[in-house]
Amino acid sequence: MSQDLSAVQKKPVGRLAPSPTGFLHLGHARSFLLAWWDARSRGGRVVLRIEDLDRERCKPQFVDAARADIEWLGLDWDGEVLVQSRDLAPYERACEDLIERDLAYPCVCTRAEIAALSAPHASDGEQRYSGACRGKWRTPAEARAATGREPGLRLAAPDGPVRIVDRLRGELEFDVQREVGDFLIRRRDGAMAYQLAVVVDDARQGVDTVVRGEDLAPSAARQALLHARLNLPRPSYAHVGLVVDEHGERLAKRRGDLALAELRAAGVDPRAVAGWAARSVGVSCGERPRAQELLPHFGLGPAAAAPAKLSAADLEALRRST
Ligand code: GLU
Repeated sequence: MSQDLSAVQKKPVGRLAPSPTGFLHLGHARSFLLAWWDARSRGGRVVLRIEDLDRERCKPQFVDAARADIEWLGLDWDGEVLVQSRDLAPYERACEDLIERDLAYPCVCTRAEIAALSAPHASDGEQRYSGACRGKWRTPAEARAATGREPGLRLAAPDGPVRIVDRLRGELEFDVQREVGDFLIRRRDGAMAYQLAVVVDDARQGVDTVVRGEDLAPSAARQALLHARLNLPRPSYAHVGLVVDEHGERLAKRRGDLALAELRAAGVDPRAVAGWAARSVGVSCGERPRAQELLPHFGLGPAAAAPAKLSAADLEALRRST
């Protein structure tokens, strides 16, 4: 008797994970739409996580704006929103576990000391750490007692390439040790680093499908090391091309004129944004589809790996969609 495989195949769990360090812009809108379409079009779930561990840069008004932007785009999510800053215990436990197994070590180096010692930066601008504190102390308490400084915590990265498989780009290789060295998982001010939090949270939220901007591809290799060290499952990745303007400049670098909050306040039609995002990955649709309407037509293919151009004409069309 033939078995209906679709009935037993696991449905994907995707996620939207804004960092409320500023207003979301059209680049975020595109990544979020693609992540949502990717999971929902396959009958999957989508969870929402507010990545607000950087207390200096995150602001409550950006959390409110991000939620409003996501709803305005016509996207929904399942279950409780996970707000990272509300409970640090899961991250602390992961750090303890890594210290206990000698997989992470305390580091008392200041930024200035690291800059003075460091070689070239990684492709995503992260500064390489030379490993000056490696092997000096086992626990943060020992490092504190020996130096009088509050230590951060670094994952000991192995030498050699780390491979990840990207659904759009195939196999990618990053030499984490050469590019960034042993990287921070808890900062000296006690803040949990993004790399650790994202790994712990994807696992506890059951996320197995990550769709995000290609600027985070090098991070996937650091996260792969953490998945391995913490014995957590590795999600599948699709790193989508970033949105650029006519001069090839990344949107993230532009002024606030592309902020979703502003477009929303100006009465722009969110369906025009959805239409632009869908067409940017080769999904044909009318001018103003609802996000939901595109589910039967959506598929994430290699076209999504290329940079997505937002021309002046595209922007004008969005602005006129009120
Ligand atoms: N919170 C991160 C950001 O907004 C995304 C993290 C991730 O997708 O892994 O850039």
